Amino acid sequence: MTFSAAKSADRVRSDIGEATWKKGEELIILDYLTSFLRNVIDTTPENLLEVVYLCINRLCPQYDGLELGIGETILMKAVASATGRALSKVKADVEQHGDLGLVAQASRSNQPTMFAPKPLTVTKVFKTLKEIASTTGGSSMQRKIDKISFLLVSCKGSEAKYLTRSLEGKLRIGLAEQTVLVALAHSIVLSKEGPSLSKEQLETKLTEATGIIKSVYSELPSYDLIIPKLLEHGVEQLHEHCKLTAGIPVKPMLAHPTKSLTEVLNRFEGHVFTCEFKYDGERAQIHQMGDGEIMVFSRNSENMSAKYPDILDKLSKAAKPDTKSFILDCEAVAWDREKKTILPFQVLSTRKRKDVKEEDIKVQVCVFAFDLLFLNGRSLLQEPLVERRKLLHDSFTIVEGDFTFAKAMTTNSVEEIQTFLDESVAGFCEGLMVKTLEGTEASYEPSKRSRNWLKVKKDYISGIGDSLDLVVIGAYQGRGKRTGVYGGYLLACYDPDREEYQSICKIGTGFSEANLETHHKFLQEHIIPGPKKYYSYGEGTKPDVWFAPVQFILSPRKVWEVKAADLSVSPVYKAAVGIVDNSKGISLRFPRFIRVREDKSPEEATASDQVAEMYNSQKINAGEAGNGDDFEY
Ligand code: ATP
Repeated sequence: MTFSAAKSADRVRSDIGEATWKKGEELIILDYLTSFLRNVIDTTPENLLEVVYLCINRLCPQYDGLELGIGETILMKAVASATGRALSKVKADVEQHGDLGLVAQASRSNQPTMFAPKPLTVTKVFKTLKEIASTTGGSSMQRKIDKISFLLVSCKGSEAKYLTRSLEGKLRIGLAEQTVLVALAHSIVLSKEGPSLSKEQLETKLTEATGIIKSVYSELPSYDLIIPKLLEHGVEQLHEHCKLTAGIPVKPMLAHPTKSLTEVLNRFEGHVFTCEFKYDGERAQIHQMGDGEIMVFSRNSENMSAKYPDILDKLSKAAKPDTKSFILDCEAVAWDREKKTILPFQVLSTRKRKDVKEEDIKVQVCVFAFDLLFLNGRSLLQEPLVERRKLLHDSFTIVEGDFTFAKAMTTNSVEEIQTFLDESVAGFCEGLMVKTLEGTEASYEPSKRSRNWLKVKKDYISGIGDSLDLVVIGAYQGRGKRTGVYGGYLLACYDPDREEYQSICKIGTGFSEANLETHHKFLQEHIIPGPKKYYSYGEGTKPDVWFAPVQFILSPRKVWEVKAADLSVSPVYKAAVGIVDNSKGISLRFPRFIRVREDKSPEEATASDQVAEMYNSQKINAGEAGNGDDFEY
């Protein structure tokens, strides 16, 4: 299959995505993608894996860590070299149009060519993208530029635009990964058995297939493993061939925020539930393979084994001799060995992230295990928590200061829960996690923000329920005491369906002087000439400088954790616009900076529908407080 054929389907979606995107058009995108994938399955099934990766702009499973996301400067040099234009001209065009993809396309189509280039194939493009991403070492920059130029020279029509955007790390075709999973399920059913089924049978099959693929993918998030089996065995048998596997990180289960213990009791009425301390460290999914190798993955499925060599050692001491393979869900927490107490998250965040040598470790961690998902080759996901917890306690032993179990208590008395909450806070924890314990609703639900897990943070009760994780997209120059640094910042949440960052508040509170200096130094390196096309903001909140969402430039992935007094509907901010109100967004009132989080990328920032949900669950909405701009220094 040629790259152009693959991209023509993208182009239609892109027109929808960029011009007239509305909620209902998700279905149109799904239709296009389904018929496109079906075409691939029927004609060149050997390309299906590469095509899916190209659609989601990835090269391999997330946990393998191989990423595109080439800096703009390299890309501009490659465009200049491939099209024979001066770099200064390319730069000027990018400043004017704000999209290097468009500039690449225009530069390419204005270029006189003697011979029509050979068509780019999907395999060739995908292979070269992989090579570019894995090019390292001396002169790697020049080698990358050469490879990119080589591809650009063969581009026709809009190929240069999509290729450039792929390399930037962002296709912006309005295609969420969930849609890809649904389209994959639909296309395989339609291709393998579509014509032989009645309309009703087909609808049932499509729904079943979607459920199977989503569930398989959340247990085994690897297209490399799933797609060949899907083509070979079809969707019904997929679970037999693709199962939770030690060594491959499963997407973690997430919790719903709550604002009061009454809310917890109402939700769990009629259920047996249990409370656990909510430790404030870093989530660690710890795997031991059958051969004894241990790996640690983050909340984002990043391999953190190099950050935590000490955890590998701790786990080999804690696992009982009969515990041969496992997947544990844990929190790694900074630990004071002398005082035998938990240390705050800020201490943990000072640990080096890469190439940590065990002998150089200054910040010790203790692992608090709260779930067991896999044991000796068997998946425990469908078992209720009560059973998983029993197996957890039977299979591991406490090693003081190194490994222990999350402190738990089972009761339905609100007084006892309140006392347990106070105890957790006194023990340097963030609050409680409250979980269903028995029955079918107590299974482990990978990747879901489930109502079977509720989080109760110590300072929830009077606030908005949870902090938000937001992306800095702009800043305002500082005056007075803040001369020389930024005085305030424009923050955004992320809408994964529209693929856009939506402004949610200005923030100027909660920063120490050191914070202000560090942010200024860091963010200055990410200034862009104007807002990205996928920033949604009101004219009245236009900042003095704009920033790129940081992950595109391959620096650490950062979001800011922010607390606020409440949320209100606002005519000037754009968060969740169209969900709570057709034209107005939601803004945070009295936002306060808490900390930088390096474990979430900007695309994992609080999503617009979470913002809308927080707003809706506010018992007494603050109403339309002015323009929602309650921001203070
Ligand atoms: P979210 O994960 O909900 O997007 P977040 O990353 O900001 O939000 P929190 O709101 O702090 O995290 O709450 C969930 C996190 O709490 C888990 O991801 C896990 O790291 C941590 N945690 C600590 N103790 C427990 C426990 N006993 N059970 C489950 N999670 C726990």
